Amino acid sequence: MISIRNLSKHYGDLIVLDQIDADIQKGEVISIIGPSGTGKSTLLRCLNLLEMPTGGSIRIDNIELMDKNTQVPKIRQRMGMVFQSFNLFAHLTVIENLTLAPVKLLGKSKADAEIKAIELLKLVGLAEKAHSLPEELSGGQKQRVAIARCMAMEPEILLFDEPTSALDPTMVSEVLAVIRRLSKEGMTMLIVTHEMEFAKNISTRVFYMDEGKIYEEGPPEQIFINPLKEKTRAFIHRLRSKQYHVSSRDYDLYALQAEMEVFCDKHMFSRKITDNVLFVAEEVLLLLSDYHDVDISLTYSEKDGSLQLSCESSGLPVNPLADGVLEDDLGLILIKSKCLSLDYEYLNGKNILLLRLKV
Ligand code: ADP
Ligand code: MG
Repeated sequence: MISIRNLSKHYGDLIVLDQIDADIQKGEVISIIGPSGTGKSTLLRCLNLLEMPTGGSIRIDNIELMDKNTQVPKIRQRMGMVFQSFNLFAHLTVIENLTLAPVKLLGKSKADAEIKAIELLKLVGLAEKAHSLPEELSGGQKQRVAIARCMAMEPEILLFDEPTSALDPTMVSEVLAVIRRLSKEGMTMLIVTHEMEFAKNISTRVFYMDEGKIYEEGPPEQIFINPLKEKTRAFIHRLRSKQYHVSSRDYDLYALQAEMEVFCDKHMFSRKITDNVLFVAEEVLLLLSDYHDVDISLTYSEKDGSLQLSCESSGLPVNPLADGVLEDDLGLILIKSKCLSLDYEYLNGKNILLLRLKV
């Protein structure tokens, strides 16, 4: 359905998209992930001709978008775009937002446009808000209206640019639910997102973008669980791990534990496991209290379901977990009881402890 060849976009000397190739079939749901500034939004904007590419080719059902004779409004109609910041017309009611373009651009009658609009509002769960103004809606509701408004133009492809990143966490799921429903109905979609669980569940393929290229692409199991290439692996690893820096004995224990709790909740660990994590982290930091600058990180591996706590500290090589090093080793006994393994190594001037927690 979409065929992209050698697509480039430069801003002066800055190469934002670097010779991208991709083919997208009808009905595919593609998630686009990657660090910020790597050209994800620019790629969507080029597809929709909101930006003019510097070079290359984009074909939609064999129509070359970059051809001078291509009718840009027609292409935009086939490819709806949903932005982070809703962009609803503030002075129009919800239903007017949905009927304006179909009447003006598709030449529909007002009555037909309204019937379709109500149908779409039902689809996104907002039929009862048809006569409200955008300002009367929550962020999640506004974004659902924005999706319905896009659908009112009867597009064949939907492009989403971080559709949930401007929302309060409580409203993310209602928007994702609507996108999921569209995917079940066979809509072809490209979604730039930071919602990795969602991307993993909904996508037929995932594009990992880095440095203006699609650095790795594949089915979600490959990208999220077994990435083949180094930068993808590092990116996914960072997502699965939480880092803290403890620079003195007087560190903020409660803040650190609160962040670890959020991490554990996100990965749906039980209360008992979460409590163990918090306990082990606190005890280990107590053992390391003579060290300055401890980097501690909690990493969850989806591959084997393991949970690992690692601590790096500079200083002379001493394994604080070795028997006999500590005078009072009650702390150590307790840590051991909650871990599957404890490893120590001294590498590049750093004491590194690796604790695998029982999960
Ligand atoms: P992402 O969506 O992956 O975060 P973007 O596509 O928004 O990345 O941006 C990629 C790069 O292009 C960034 O370095 C950004 O600063 C630059 N960029 C985007 N739009 C413009 C513009 N209109 N003029 C100059 N540079 C731009
Ligand atoms: Mg972006």
